[in-house]
Amino acid sequence: MKTGRVALVGAGPGDPDLLTLKAVRALARADVVLHDDLVADAVLDFIGPAARVIAVGKRGGCASTPQAFIEQLMIREARAGHFVVRLKGGDPFVFGRGGEEIIALRNAGIEVEIVPGITSGLAAPAAFGVPVTHRGLAHGVALVTAHAADGGAEPDWRLLAASQLTLVVYMGMQRIADLRDKLLAAGQSARRPVLVVANATRDDQQSLHTTLGRMAEDATSAGLRSPAIIVIGDVAAMADQAGAAATAGAETQVPCSTSSSARITGSSSRWRR
Ligand code: SAH
Repeated sequence: MKTGRVALVGAGPGDPDLLTLKAVRALARADVVLHDDLVADAVLDFIGPAARVIAVGKRGGCASTPQAFIEQLMIREARAGHFVVRLKGGDPFVFGRGGEEIIALRNAGIEVEIVPGITSGLAAPAAFGVPVTHRGLAHGVALVTAHAADGGAEPDWRLLAASQLTLVVYMGMQRIADLRDKLLAAGQSARRPVLVVANATRDDQQSLHTTLGRMAEDATSAGLRSPAIIVIGDVAAMADQAGAAATAGAETQVPCSTSSSARITGSSSRWRR
């Protein structure tokens, strides 16, 4: 029997209009789809009717499917001659453990293709008209996580603070107060603009315009939860105050109860298949 193959496919941040054509075609042709729980239902709609769909959810702190099991499952299905799509939120190679999976698959002699996706760290600021680099404001951007996986090392906050790069923080909500403390201790200004976007590009997208000094309290009082992206840097002040620029939805202004410096906007995308 001919060995199958695996595609590690980026599902983008949620809005199915942000899928690549290559991702849509792979989903239509897949025999088996293994997806994370960050993948939006509207994206799963593109899976062909004959495919087997397996949820292998993994959320920080929650019960999860062990990584080794996922890798073995992909190898087994590919060896059985199937076209396996490993569907991951955003981009598979940005905090998606895509690197580990490609190594396991290559070691098993399985052909792998990578289909990049739009990472949430770029889609979230884009949804509010925030460029992550901008002449005179930010000459670069760093994608970092505040969540040191499996006891791994944290980024060097002091170096990042000194760099004045725009910081795009993934998995930061549980440690937002700690993140604030570290950046303040590293010399960043408490007035540095911050944009927090939860559920970016989805119907329940929520955002918060605040500052480094206030972001932890403001995020708590606004009830913002994971999954969320925290954008820290002068470019965050460029956020379109009315709401999403990239999602063609109606904006609703939600009054902010306790904070005077924060504004929350919700937006919904009117996408129909
Ligand atoms: N590979 C993914 C990241 C996975 S790590 C990507 O490229 O986007 C999980 C983290 O991604 C979440 O904790 C959150 O910080 C971020 N995230 C994923 N989807 C998101 C979304 N729709 N809105 C905001 N943040 C999101």
